[in-house]
Amino acid sequence: MKKYRVGILGATGTVGQRFIQLLEGHPQFEITALGASDRSAGKQYAEACAWKLTGEIPESVREIEVQAIEPPLDCDIVFSSLPSNVARETEEAFARAGFPVISNSSCYRMDEDVPLLIPEINHEHVGLIETQRKRRGFGKGFIVTNPNCAVTSFAPPLAALHRSFGVEAAVITTMQAISGAGYPGVSAMDISDNVLPYIAGEEPKVEIEAQKILGKFSEGAVTNADFSVSAQCFRVDVIDGHTAAIRVNLKQNATLEDVVDAMRSFPVLDLHSSPAEFMHVFDEPSRPQPRLDRDNGKGMTISVGRIFPDNVFDYRFVSLSHNTVRGAAGCAILNAELLIDKGII
Ligand code: NAP
Repeated sequence: MKKYRVGILGATGTVGQRFIQLLEGHPQFEITALGASDRSAGKQYAEACAWKLTGEIPESVREIEVQAIEPPLDCDIVFSSLPSNVARETEEAFARAGFPVISNSSCYRMDEDVPLLIPEINHEHVGLIETQRKRRGFGKGFIVTNPNCAVTSFAPPLAALHRSFGVEAAVITTMQAISGAGYPGVSAMDISDNVLPYIAGEEPKVEIEAQKILGKFSEGAVTNADFSVSAQCFRVDVIDGHTAAIRVNLKQNATLEDVVDAMRSFPVLDLHSSPAEFMHVFDEPSRPQPRLDRDNGKGMTISVGRIFPDNVFDYRFVSLSHNTVRGAAGCAILNAELLIDKGII
């Protein structure tokens, strides 16, 4: 199998570290370049990075010198996990210099010529790349994005319902992990023994991204799905794993059995990082839980449970995903595998 050389922007951060962990031993990718801020540039990775994941920093990257986030880098593909304010200019510069840029940042997600991908749901949205290249005058380069990590926790079950019965409206309450704020993130004094009812900039993202993901691709454009979402986002005292409580109205009638079946029968992909089960639906009333279920399918399976008819809406359920794996680095790696599979990289 051909090995592609990959560079990671924001390599020392929470998502960057997860990229390095997930790419260790990957059959299609080898890490050849790492980029971060001026604080880290010029240092060896092991010196620059405050490693926070279990296990050692992989030997293969320890001595790579961290570089400034400027093109060119010695790689074929760029994974970006930069803060949004830095990402806009930098990701465009890499795309313009001919690199495929696979981004975790929010800055391009809702641009109408940029794919916002969860490959199992909307892999056909990669068709936007052609539109993007023409419109922006990119040559070989392009930008694709993956969704906000909280959106990733509920978009898959919502996709199953939308595809089978049509979603009319959803009310979503998220309980988001500490690692979602990056490192060092929120202070221990603020989050311990506590729930924070505000995450800056989060609710607007949760209210709009799923409609693009579930949109229809046709003639070089995506028409967003036409349901509305009301969201409240909370930071909770959990290290990894975003949980969402969802109440939903459907356009067509569906029995509880139909709803569960729509989720369980949602098609999976056959890519290296795609899990055997895209969504796992629990029957046990006490699941999903972040500590027990975030690592299901090596962090790539969405765990769903508590599906019941609701007194006010049609149905309610709870959904969970690992925010730095399925919600960030793992999804970006899956996107790269998809783009190779489709011959775009
Ligand atoms: P983080 O832990 O704060 O890491 C930020 C990374 O960006 C570090 O490598 C940092 O390098 C680098 N950086 C910061 N400012 C820079 C600058 N001015 N120039 C160059 N590099 C700079 O953040 P994170 O949680 O990994 O998040 C990264 C991105 O992914 C954000 O856009 C975030 O919204 C998105 N995201 C995060 C999650 C999550 O669960 N954490 C999930 C989905 C998406 P230094 O170490 O040198 O400062």
